[in-house]
Amino acid sequence: MDIQILPLDETKLKPVPEHDFGFGNKFANRMFSQKYTAGVGWHDAQIGPYAPFTLDPATAVFHYAQEIFEGLKAYRRPDGNINLFRPWENMKRFNNSARRMAMAPVDEEEHLAAIAKLVELESKWVPRVPGAALYIRPTMIATEAALGVHASTEYLHYVIIGPVGSYFKEGFNPVPVYISDQYRRAVRGGVGSAKTGGNYAASLFVGEDAKTKGYSQVLWLDAIEGRYIEEVGAMNIAFVYEGKHIVTPQLTGSILPGVTRDSVLTLGRDLGYEVSEEQIDVNEMLADVQSGRITEVFGCGTAAVIAPVGKFGYKDEEYIINNYEVGPVAKQLFDELTGIQYGRIPDRFGWTMMIEAE
Ligand SMILES: *Cc1c(COP(=O)(O)O)cnc(C)c1O
Repeated sequence: MDIQILPLDETKLKPVPEHDFGFGNKFANRMFSQKYTAGVGWHDAQIGPYAPFTLDPATAVFHYAQEIFEGLKAYRRPDGNINLFRPWENMKRFNNSARRMAMAPVDEEEHLAAIAKLVELESKWVPRVPGAALYIRPTMIATEAALGVHASTEYLHYVIIGPVGSYFKEGFNPVPVYISDQYRRAVRGGVGSAKTGGNYAASLFVGEDAKTKGYSQVLWLDAIEGRYIEEVGAMNIAFVYEGKHIVTPQLTGSILPGVTRDSVLTLGRDLGYEVSEEQIDVNEMLADVQSGRITEVFGCGTAAVIAPVGKFGYKDEEYIINNYEVGPVAKQLFDELTGIQYGRIPDRFGWTMMIEAE
């Protein structure tokens, strides 16, 4: 892939924000894009000005939601250079999602090279503020303009980037989580393990409903028995038993295989915890919270890295975890993971890809 680098109109450049990054509403001046046409393959790879698309109203993605995305971050190191965290995993997952959604896979090496080049060109946009980072959003949409129901013959693949502030505005604090006994996010055999917008669309109503009840996230149970724990919001979830055993739901096909989840398992084992992937029954889990056998619960995902859970609400009952305080395991995992991501501590797992800042 030869990426064409298009010039920017210097008179129209957005200034790089120094603080107040928000979360996902400010974007750098450049983006990457390329197009796919059946019979031709991928073409027109370019890094050019961040700009709107003009799309036919019949474009497939607007009607049948054939789309996928990824989410990863670039972190400013103490030496001024930039780390990507396990970007190879995101690239593999992007193509796994593409295959499940009957979309054209991309060349993983080229895709990653495009991201690295984009971040290098826009390196000023990687914040130097503690806890902040540059969010990277690779996306692919079906662009054939026709209403027939079939896999699109054309795709647009693009990458946008923008600074994001610390996920925890008021510090690293536990969140209240609502367990829905009525609604489900994804079903085995469905698309729960693909990073596709439809999974999010299906979850919004329940998330809004949980907010009116005073909860900030929803814990999803499996769709077949309504009994086994799957994910929390758009994060994976982990439980700590007696301060030493980290357990996360095993991947069943309806759970998104998170990079943070995998990192927690590897790091947890390395730090001397017992670590396992199991089927977790919601009633047993809540009984273990009440008895104190479960000492901590936390979500894990790129946005928050580790998000401690302070309480569960389920069928009109509340279950407080660890006195609504951040526990030592969540804190240690957060410090170690962010330490590696920001290059403050040695990367003993080979998880980071360094980009030299200009
Ligand atoms: C992206 C995502 C996650 C977390 O994955 P990470 O790779 O750790 O960011 C978890 N669940 C869902 C539904 C997701 O979309």
